[in-house]
Amino acid sequence: MARREFSKAVLRAALARADGRCEGMLLDGSRCPCALQVGRIHYDHIVPAALTEDVSLENCQVLCRPCHAAKTVVDVGVIARVRRVRDRHVGIVNPHRRPLLGSKASPFKRLIGGRVIRRHPDKQQE
Ligand SMILES: [Zn+2]
Repeated sequence: MARREFSKAVLRAALARADGRCEGMLLDGSRCPCALQVGRIHYDHIVPAALTEDVSLENCQVLCRPCHAAKTVVDVGVIARVRRVRDRHVGIVNPHRRPLLGSKASPFKRLIGGRVIRRHPDKQQE
């Protein structure tokens, strides 16, 4: 998916909406008190650009530098998790990952009493 950027019209509208102040939210839910400084204005995709093609005003927020840096840290984790879930959904898994012994994905299972057997003895190992 190609990263899509906001149009100039959206950026202008977001800046007008911000009214000179950062639109970031602090941990306590209040709005960041920072005044926006020319040259230090960051336009952020609320839903990361890596995950959506939404470049509407609703997905754009105007942030100060500290707020943008904090948001990026969160986004990196969210993007990685969404990619893992999407991959798993379509059967793309890490080829070096071994299933936990005794789990449903493992070719072995442990019987009551402790004996370990092959889950599908007739099936060849893949
Ligand atoms: Zn801020």
